[in-house]
Amino acid sequence: MNPTVLDRKVVRLIKRWKEERSEPVCAFLYDKKTLRERAQACVGSLPGGCRLFYAMKANPSKEFLDCLAPVVHGFEAASIGEIRKVRKISEDKPVIFGGPGKKDAEIAEALQRRVTLIHAESMHELRRISLIAGGLGTVAQVLLRINLRASFPEATLVMAGRPTQFGIDEEDVPEAIGLAQSLPHLSLEGFHLHSISNNLDASLHARLISVYWDRVTEWKDRFDLTLRYLNAGGGFGISYTDPDRSFEWPLFITELGKVLEERQLPGVELLFEPGRYLAAACGYYAAEVVDLKCNHGKHYAVLRGGSHHFRLPGAWQHSHPFEVVPLEHWDYPFARPEVLDVEITVAGELCTPKDVLARDVRVARLRVGDVLLFHLAGAYGWTISAHDFLSHAHPEHIYFDDTQGELI
Ligand SMILES: *Cc1c(COP(=O)(O)O)cnc(C)c1O
Repeated sequence: MNPTVLDRKVVRLIKRWKEERSEPVCAFLYDKKTLRERAQACVGSLPGGCRLFYAMKANPSKEFLDCLAPVVHGFEAASIGEIRKVRKISEDKPVIFGGPGKKDAEIAEALQRRVTLIHAESMHELRRISLIAGGLGTVAQVLLRINLRASFPEATLVMAGRPTQFGIDEEDVPEAIGLAQSLPHLSLEGFHLHSISNNLDASLHARLISVYWDRVTEWKDRFDLTLRYLNAGGGFGISYTDPDRSFEWPLFITELGKVLEERQLPGVELLFEPGRYLAAACGYYAAEVVDLKCNHGKHYAVLRGGSHHFRLPGAWQHSHPFEVVPLEHWDYPFARPEVLDVEITVAGELCTPKDVLARDVRVARLRVGDVLLFHLAGAYGWTISAHDFLSHAHPEHIYFDDTQGELI
């Protein structure tokens, strides 16, 4: 991986840590400038009638929300905790409330906090949303989340086209629409179809939208619906292991333009809610090597840190890309352990063999006291990890913004 200006900024921050502090480096470093610019590029390129929400579960930090709020149309939240986080930074930013297993109290508070839309995930949830909205003297604006009966085999993690806990079975669409129309405190505004995760194929993604669009048009005509929204979800991919395979956003926009030209649905807004695509490249995880060993012929580096901070590689079963940041600092009165040109497995500080962030990766040189810098750690990193397993100290979270002229 070629070091960019930004990477050098990150390296400078790590070196400064070593100058100022004695404990080993262990930190997430987040680049708000890149986050803002990525979001601006995505939002700015969308065709008319499209709106972008940030799926905040990818990284719900206040700094990220503050940074994105002026750029994105709104936020997609999956719990009342996430909704509160948005409302802390903005009273009126549009919020979509999705996710399975919504509790009554969450629905009530979401309505009181004026969420824009609620994604209904089941018939039971539809009934409860209407009942709760009625109790509050309001009408809930709802999208039905549908699990389509088509298969999209190319994606890594598919949330539709097969049995999942998400959404309403496409076979039950007539019943769900009938129920939604019969409920007094609920307004059916459209459909939500998030079927794919970490998809790297931009053309496939546009084809997916055309499938969604056609399906929704069919339901609109068949049930004589007035629709305002089609939410096409997130799922724009990041390639963790092959940088040449990144999702081609410009190609997606071109293909999406063609899809929309052929399909006119006046008055219907097309919503997107990416998380990973906006946030992943804006974060780094830096962890110092505290030990090196050779065990049964295999080389291991042990980090101050691990999967309790950064579970992503374990969750996706990949070797996460990293670079070695060589640091010259060495205080001990004995020789510094070092390996040269070996394949190394990178383990964390937990007492479990699953605490591995990368396997059998060749390194030219690695010493105890060097730092491994993991890229693409801004989404689904800290937030999905079991922070308190083994009660190790949490990592630092360092946010930085302007990288202008910060070369070393
Ligand atoms: C997780 C999720 C997203 C965001 O997915 P990404 O892969 O991060 O883009 C969007 N919508 C829903 C409903 C989700 O569950």
